Amino acid sequence: MLSQYISKTPKSKVLFEENKEFMPYGVSSNYRYFDPYPLYLVRGKGSKVWDIDGNEYTDYNLGFGVLEVGHANERIIEVISDTIKDSSIMGFEYYKTGTLAKIICQRYGIDMVRFSSSGTEATMHSIRLARAFTKRKKIIKFEGHYHGSHDQLLVNVNPLKVGGKVPSSSGIPDEVIQNTIIVDWNDIDSFEKVAKEDIAAVIMEPVAMNMGLIPTDKEFMKSVFELSKDKGFLVIFDETKTGGKFYNGAAGYFGVKPDIIILGKAIAGGLPLSVIGGKREIMELIGPGKVAHGGTFNANTLSVNASIVTLRELLTESAFYQLHRLSDMLEIGYRDIAEDLGVELSVSKWGPSGSIYFSEKVPKNYKEFIRMDFSRWFTYFYVMLSKGVIPMGGFNEQWTVSIKHSEEDILKHIEVAEEAIKKAKD
Ligand code: PLP
Repeated sequence: MLSQYISKTPKSKVLFEENKEFMPYGVSSNYRYFDPYPLYLVRGKGSKVWDIDGNEYTDYNLGFGVLEVGHANERIIEVISDTIKDSSIMGFEYYKTGTLAKIICQRYGIDMVRFSSSGTEATMHSIRLARAFTKRKKIIKFEGHYHGSHDQLLVNVNPLKVGGKVPSSSGIPDEVIQNTIIVDWNDIDSFEKVAKEDIAAVIMEPVAMNMGLIPTDKEFMKSVFELSKDKGFLVIFDETKTGGKFYNGAAGYFGVKPDIIILGKAIAGGLPLSVIGGKREIMELIGPGKVAHGGTFNANTLSVNASIVTLRELLTESAFYQLHRLSDMLEIGYRDIAEDLGVELSVSKWGPSGSIYFSEKVPKNYKEFIRMDFSRWFTYFYVMLSKGVIPMGGFNEQWTVSIKHSEEDILKHIEVAEEAIKKAKD
């Protein structure tokens, strides 16, 4: 399996040896590295990407869930080419930012928004805002939920050991995470124990997408909202991923109105743009001399226009119908494989995304997730790569389909997956 990957990617290996002289692990984000060396990609078009060795892959990672419009989408190319002629950064506010703000507010049921460039920045700003609004310090986060790579929330995300509070990086002082409280996902009893009057906010991925794809217990979600009302703390939906999975995001899907919503990834057709949005009385705290929010690249002209086109023309309601249909086909395909091969494999899916676990049941939370043996997942992964399919970005990620994927792509995925899972089983 691994040998197949190695034999097909000699140039990636050479480039890795060169790059690691100048970049730790030869990559710009830890999540792009996997053993024994990362895959170096050259270009993409639609549902396909090509690596430096010239191998073609059907891509279901899509920039970790960003490119639901497909690689090098014609409309995105067109709008960026037109926009850049009039400059990429204005410094002062670009006149079309308000148009985008209105589209997002109306679509996601938000009163007001501010723009940043990454999910990390947006969640960082959101907890500052929640603290300013409530005049409280403590933030509840769920184990296994990822909110970007800033210190205060980089806790109990992919820890190898569970129990207690575990920073997910060296270099994070205890003092910085002192006010971050960790709770098990989908577990109302542990949530109730800490949901007190000194909490500023609870932040969550409304569907957990950094431990595969763990569905949300609706009763649990309901209780979180009830307790937040009761105790006076805010609910922050980190919809960096989920915001692009249904037309109105997870808030629309669950029919709830969180106090603050973060959006990112898919909403700008591949350009860097994130959103901190929320109820008017909270958002109005942002401003000079009040709650700080800034960023040189915020709402640059390229991201703004790419996002307007993405939301108005590409990720439409009918596009979601198509994305969900293709994703259903994948889900059914994986379930059939599990049954045909008699292998312990569980599948979970939400909208255009889904994940597989080499276990009898889909885990309920991080503790159940981390107990799994991932060696079979890696065998599956290397076989998939060597047969020309990038099934997802990692063992804790999920597949995503784009509007450029075809039924033929899906059938090929299923065919290759059958072979990969058979190998993983042996
Ligand atoms: N929040 C969630 C739920 C994410 O999945 C991610 C990234 O995967 C982030 C925040 C961080 O976003 P970014 O990588 O744009 O900083």
